[in-house]
Amino acid sequence: MFNGKMKAVTFSYDDGVTADRKLVKILNKYGLKCTFNLNSEVRPMVHKREDGKTTERFDITENADLYKGHEIAVHTCTHPHLNDYDYDRQYQEIARDKENLSRIFKQDIVGMALPYGLSSCNDITVKAMKDAGMAYSRGTAATHSFDIQKDLLPFNPTCHHKDPLLMELSEKFVNMKADKPQIFYIWGHSYEFDLDENWDKFIEFCEFISGKDDIFYGTNKEVLL
Ligand SMILES: [Zn+2]
Repeated sequence: MFNGKMKAVTFSYDDGVTADRKLVKILNKYGLKCTFNLNSEVRPMVHKREDGKTTERFDITENADLYKGHEIAVHTCTHPHLNDYDYDRQYQEIARDKENLSRIFKQDIVGMALPYGLSSCNDITVKAMKDAGMAYSRGTAATHSFDIQKDLLPFNPTCHHKDPLLMELSEKFVNMKADKPQIFYIWGHSYEFDLDENWDKFIEFCEFISGKDDIFYGTNKEVLL
């Protein structure tokens, strides 16, 4: 149960980019809670794409206040394919990111999102995550399910915000009378809304899913742990 409720909604957004500013504003307006997975040792940079559009990673140390009220989680120091590395480097990528982020954001860091999802995760990664004190670790493959997953190292989300089934799933979730705990878990990158020009669709979704008496809105750790 989540604060006495059977249903919970949580969000998970990666990389720490300038579009997070707009995302946080929208989430705050609708009382929705998100976990932001950040890389503490990737330098700020503007990425110019072939289509002329740009995405931008900002300096997270200058944006600590932005994420107030939300959760910060590990996304590794430098966003590598973890399974290219031996145990020590994998552990360092996770443990040092955790340390950096807890210093910058002054909160306990207990979870993470895997860079490149489960494709960058092997048995060594699982051990490194456990040893670094991670209680959960998110992949990227949609389950299209709301069921509680027993093993959170790693686990997969319900769906990405661009999933063609997003609105269908949200109607099902809102109308559902749950007799066991159910989680609607949405993930993405906020820069995708700029690239895909679909902020409106996301706002529609937030309006629909928010403000329900029988749903708890929490960060990943509030909902998963
Ligand atoms: Zn990422």
